Amino acid sequence: MPHDTPLISTIVGGLVLAFVLGTLAHRLRMPPLVGYLVAGVLAGPHTPGFVADQSLAPELAEIGVILLMFGVGLHFSLKDLLSVRGIAVPGAIVQIGFATLLGWGLGALMGWPTGGSLVFGLALSVASTVVLLKALQERRLIDSDRGRIAVGWLIVEDLAMVLALVLIPAAASIGGGEHATAEPLSAAISRLLGLDLGMGGIIVMTLVKVVIFVGVMLVFGGRLIPWTMHRIAHSGSRELFRLGVLAIALGVAFGASKLFGVSLALGAFFAGMVLAESELSQRAAQESLPLRDAFTVLFFVSVGMLFDPNILIDKPLPVFATVLIIVIGKSIAAFLIVRLFRKPVGTALTISASLGQIGEFSFILAALGVSLGLLPEEGRDLILAGALISIILNPLLFYACDRLRRVLERTKREEPIAANVPEPAKEPEPEEEENRQPTALRGHAIIVGYGRVGSIVGQNLKSSGTPFLVIEDSSNRIGELRDQGIEAISGNAASRELLDLANIAGARSLVIAIPNAFEACRVADQGRTINPSLLIVARAHSDAEVDELLEYGADTVIMGEREIAMGMVDRLAQVHHDSVRYEDEADTATIAVEDTPSPDKE
Ligand code: AMP
Repeated sequence: MPHDTPLISTIVGGLVLAFVLGTLAHRLRMPPLVGYLVAGVLAGPHTPGFVADQSLAPELAEIGVILLMFGVGLHFSLKDLLSVRGIAVPGAIVQIGFATLLGWGLGALMGWPTGGSLVFGLALSVASTVVLLKALQERRLIDSDRGRIAVGWLIVEDLAMVLALVLIPAAASIGGGEHATAEPLSAAISRLLGLDLGMGGIIVMTLVKVVIFVGVMLVFGGRLIPWTMHRIAHSGSRELFRLGVLAIALGVAFGASKLFGVSLALGAFFAGMVLAESELSQRAAQESLPLRDAFTVLFFVSVGMLFDPNILIDKPLPVFATVLIIVIGKSIAAFLIVRLFRKPVGTALTISASLGQIGEFSFILAALGVSLGLLPEEGRDLILAGALISIILNPLLFYACDRLRRVLERTKREEPIAANVPEPAKEPEPEEEENRQPTALRGHAIIVGYGRVGSIVGQNLKSSGTPFLVIEDSSNRIGELRDQGIEAISGNAASRELLDLANIAGARSLVIAIPNAFEACRVADQGRTINPSLLIVARAHSDAEVDELLEYGADTVIMGEREIAMGMVDRLAQVHHDSVRYEDEADTATIAVEDTPSPDKE
């Protein structure tokens, strides 16, 4: 067997190193992605030992970007996207402008030409899809208002970068960049057609292509893709379904970038979005998860590989200034813009934190700038260092924003009491802030999760007149609950803060109706610690989960599958009369269906 296998060694080396260092980071109570980045630095050419293939790693990382954006598209409808355009479009444009200005200023200070400084600024202005989505997913914010704004913002940035990638080479050739060798597709077409489009023409042509792509996806893709998926689902083959999901995500992304010049990420997002309306979207999301996670890890490894640690010693001040622009400059700009749109402080802080980093697009811009002779190599190195450091700092930024939000909310709540003056009339507070008021209920029931299970419990409590409230992390559900006049707190119930807002200390019972046992155990544990006399009823899906929940303080655990079986046995008993009974020995569900007696026996 030949031994030169760069693809295999890059995948294996990247994943193994990332696993080892990710686990180590986790043990040291740091986010695993710090481990992945360090794994990349170790696998890169600037450190001794194993060196992964430097051109393959970023390409593999792109697969992670595609699957990630496809997954986000699966949660997004066109309505969601349009509902945030009012803030996302101006927000992203103003922020890109501001960050570009800061980057250009730093470039000018470093003595770079104007073109190079502008490319540098642009590269600092665009956030990484992977980092942003991963952060939102980890905090279960994708489906929230702020999550939707952040994703909409990201899509606009993505579109702006598609334009930038087309315009920079054109501008460089017009402006006489030293080695203006790269030619954008639109310029090539116009040259072939004998047209001289100029800058305006190139912009229009690029936008027309994006519009055609979106139109094709919505009109044809919107029918063809769900239809294909339904056909495959009906074939009954899980393997084919999984393959179909991958083929659609990767195929549409690749085709879109080749045919219409849009980015791979944008192509994948639209492929996911046209599937989002179909009830198969949940399954599609599940099927693409494992591959998505593996390739996302490779994204971080590939970022680490590009980083040369020497720059920290050679140019500490410019590195510091670059990081400052990315982490502080961009965040402040985003915060102010979001507040200008009268969005809550919490929303503004989350959006600032999620955008305070850079990644894949910045590398592409930097590479383009260097190849066109616009950006000095030093600029590219600063961008790489800025990306690595800002990605490492991102979880800290989220943490700081979270703390700040809590402090601000607390002072806001205490203010009117301390000053003893009535609050001035003000705009009705948007949804997310409203949730933060503690409940006035006492002796009530708390339902965690209002899906298939929780909603049935809730309806029963409602008709029996029992006071209750709901903790739910899907903002759509929260909206529905409020419409029905049911008190609801939005967010992940595993957080202590939410349990306090639900007055768990004064509650009589807690119904944990969520499917995730890990989170359910955390809720049960906190509930029991805060209120030892609370009745805790929880939902489980296996015997191991039952044991675990009991151990964490639940009084009664209902195992879904066992109840389903009992329901089935009940139904069978109606037909088979007395011969069917339910046996539940040794704590596990055992179903016994006796032979149907022959008629002559009776
Ligand atoms: P179902 O499986 O249909 O009963 O739905 C479960 C519901 O619980 C969904 O509406 C989820 O949004 C919600 N949910 C899941 N995990 C949590 C959590 N940790 N905190 C609050 N709500 C949750």
